Amino acid sequence: MPRPITATIDSAALRHNLGVVRRHAPQSRVLAVVKANAYGHGIMRVARALADAGVEGFALLELDAAIALRVAGFTQRIVLLEGFFDAAELPLLATHRIDTVIHSAEQIAMLQHAPEGAKFNLLIKLNTGMNRLGLREAEFAGALKALRANPAAGELTLMTHFANSDDARGVAWQTAAFEQITQGATLPRTLANSAAILRYPETHADWVRPGIMLYGATPFADVSAAQLDLRPVMTLTSRIIAVQQLKPGDTVGYGGLYTAQRDTRIGVVACGYADGYPRHAPNGTPVRVGDVMTTTVGRVSMDMLCVDITALRDAQVGASVTLWGAGNPVDDVAAAAGTVGYELLCALAQRVPAVERG
Ligand SMILES: *Cc1c(COP(=O)(O)O)cnc(C)c1O
Repeated sequence: MPRPITATIDSAALRHNLGVVRRHAPQSRVLAVVKANAYGHGIMRVARALADAGVEGFALLELDAAIALRVAGFTQRIVLLEGFFDAAELPLLATHRIDTVIHSAEQIAMLQHAPEGAKFNLLIKLNTGMNRLGLREAEFAGALKALRANPAAGELTLMTHFANSDDARGVAWQTAAFEQITQGATLPRTLANSAAILRYPETHADWVRPGIMLYGATPFADVSAAQLDLRPVMTLTSRIIAVQQLKPGDTVGYGGLYTAQRDTRIGVVACGYADGYPRHAPNGTPVRVGDVMTTTVGRVSMDMLCVDITALRDAQVGASVTLWGAGNPVDDVAAAAGTVGYELLCALAQRVPAVERG
């Protein structure tokens, strides 16, 4: 019997969430963002489920994973969101028909060293206020001219990325900058991440780039995944492997961060920060034991964490525990731990076995 922790990946939920994207952006093609091993869900199984549901493309940053998708037989568009880092990567991109973002003058210069006869579909990324990647307004016209004159440049798409699509500042200031920079250029466009897909239909354009919503978590601090009709794809479960009976004054775990105020039953769960559970989750982080919600107590350790099962008379060694997912939204666990669902999903450790369902 192996250690009882498992990540169950619900591919039916993934297909449902792609349907939510379609409902919001019916005119747009979908570039499913599968960076970071599909936000921790396993890129191959996610790509298969989304391809079965008709997705038009995949976006990620990792060249090895992009090549692996192509080698596995996926025929959809594959886009590198940070582009290439060195001209030496260009032959691989050409061989595997991988499209690339161009966000800097340095990349445009590297394209001069493209292999003879190669053609790359390019997404020209503009900096409209995020100030991370992208060409500035003053660089755009020259870049477009240089690319149009370069025989290595195939189809061109215009792209930008939003800094505040999930909060009150919104996107209008950036869409205005995008319009200003690109006026007159009749090229396909891509702007929207999950939050913009859900909140700003005017940003949908030719291609949308959903990430977090495909995985059934919310991009917003104030709207839940359930309110958005998104279903959790990853459910992280384990079991209670020991039970401790505490007297008032007894403490739990490293540093004794939790002190029992009364007679307290504690379940020790086979899940710790080496599995991807956040070490900084405080006392009171939501956990589901069987069908009942309870909370963590004490410090999360590398391989175990503890939960209060005083009120759960039937909970014994072997009881099923849902760390996050169906019945215990990852966004609630993240909020208690002072982070976002994105970080918890991406941090799922390699050592946790994943099984597919649906
Ligand atoms: C990660 C990423 C996305 C997806 O963002 P979500 O908030 O997860 O939907 C879209 N576009 C770019 C450029 C990204 O890096």
